[in-house]
Amino acid sequence: MQRIARLRTLSGAKALLALKCFATWSVFPLMRQYLDGSTSSSLNEVRLGREKFGGETHAYSVAWADHEIDAVLTHGDKIIFNSLAQLQRFGDKARAAGKPVGLRVNPGVSNSPYLLADPARPNSRLGESDPDKIAAVIGQLSGLMFHNNCENRRFEHFDEMLGHIEQRFGHLLAQVQWISLGGGIHFSEPGYPLEQLAERLRRFAGRHGVQVYLEPGEASVAGAATLEVTVLDVGFNGKPLAVVDSSIEAHMLDLLIYDYSARIEPNTGEHETIVGGKTCLAGDLFGTFRFTRPLQVGDRLSIEDAAGYTMVKKNWFNGVDMPAIVVRRLDGREEVVRAFGYDDYVGSLS
Ligand SMILES: *Cc1c(COP(=O)(O)O)cnc(C)c1O
Repeated sequence: MQRIARLRTLSGAKALLALKCFATWSVFPLMRQYLDGSTSSSLNEVRLGREKFGGETHAYSVAWADHEIDAVLTHGDKIIFNSLAQLQRFGDKARAAGKPVGLRVNPGVSNSPYLLADPARPNSRLGESDPDKIAAVIGQLSGLMFHNNCENRRFEHFDEMLGHIEQRFGHLLAQVQWISLGGGIHFSEPGYPLEQLAERLRRFAGRHGVQVYLEPGEASVAGAATLEVTVLDVGFNGKPLAVVDSSIEAHMLDLLIYDYSARIEPNTGEHETIVGGKTCLAGDLFGTFRFTRPLQVGDRLSIEDAAGYTMVKKNWFNGVDMPAIVVRRLDGREEVVRAFGYDDYVGSLS
């Protein structure tokens, strides 16, 4: 949070929390001291942002429905449309409600290592890409949103892509008041050249006469939480195995859909062990880790980096109990802010 606040001060850019990455609202009172507001990908998120986060509330969705639009315009300060067709359908309503209107632009380049998460994938539905078509409606727009980074750890790469955006859409940038550059920039990691990024953003804003917005999701919460699990059984099948009281399908779905391993630290001992979940899914595996001694029933393990895209995907697969949400306060106190039981389980199935 402090790094984000520093970037805001140095660059003049505003930062909005992307709620799809992290929507654990019990810690919003702390986070809003460092951020300007929130951005969203659905009506539920816009409303959560308005009611629980406060500050500036951007409303974006890949597609709004007719029955949602009035509520979206009530809760959002700005509305960002994903397509010219959505702009045409709802633009007049937004202007009548006095809400500034933005459009998502797809610059056709990205750095995503995963096709699944690549907004510039072939035949992408995420944003408009033809500068001439956008120019034709520019008078209706107060801003443009570009979101084409995903886990981008290299400033040089960000810089290059921003250059590409300026080259292709430069004549449009000067005609709006604000530009959102989306999320996916991992500037909160140690070693990221924050000052260089700030300088680049400041120059970008000055050259085009715009207010810049950033929408950090992952960068807001990277490394901020762990998933605490307990070993229920140990065994051996060619390699030592352990089963824990959790599941990647139920609790850390990203590991499954992007096919990568969880992180457990340190990972340097002599006892290599496969750690798996307790569901019936054969590939429900957190990964293979090196422990300093053989695991035993009752051992507790900490899965690192469990905040982003994890706490918002609790889908009760196989009826596995949800992890409680525990907030470590700044004074070190740990507070169970929510625990889940059978009633919640039954209530979630409707
Ligand atoms: C997902 C998303 C973000 C947040 O991305 P992170 O990689 O978590 O920083 C921001 N803006 C938009 C439009 C998104 O779709």
